[in-house]
Amino acid sequence: TIGMLALDAKGNIGGACTTSGMAFKMHGRVGDSPIIGAGLYIDNEVGGATSTGVGEEVIRNVGSFLVVELMRQGLSPEDACKEAVQRIIKKKPEIAKQIQVGFLAINKKGEYGAYALQDGFSFAVCDSNKQDTLIPGKYFY
Ligand code: ASP
Repeated sequence: TIGMLALDAKGNIGGACTTSGMAFKMHGRVGDSPIIGAGLYIDNEVGGATSTGVGEEVIRNVGSFLVVELMRQGLSPEDACKEAVQRIIKKKPEIAKQIQVGFLAINKKGEYGAYALQDGFSFAVCDSNKQDTLIPGKYFY
């Protein structure tokens, strides 16, 4: 999945995501990306979140909606992503060690963060000066 989150000069949050889905998926499988609240969620009062990885586990936890709601309760984007990943670990600890799921989030202040199950989930930040920075996401395993 490629997920994008943006904060414009007026403070509006936007987001989009696209995916090829999982390799060897069953015909007709619907992943998390096309489901609002799972692979992507924006609330212009709070912020936005998007996910990558095994969509079934994201859907089960309504992952991107969860991240945004955790930010609404006061968590930083990174802590909200971390908590959403922890929910996946709590529900399926054995599976969580073998799969990848990562979340990326931004809030209205322009703070951002990410967290994943496994190493290898990095993200790029483009600031108002069009400077790109590649940031390694944090992870559990
Ligand atoms: N999240 C996608 C899916 O489950 C896979 C991906 O990360 O590209 O369909």
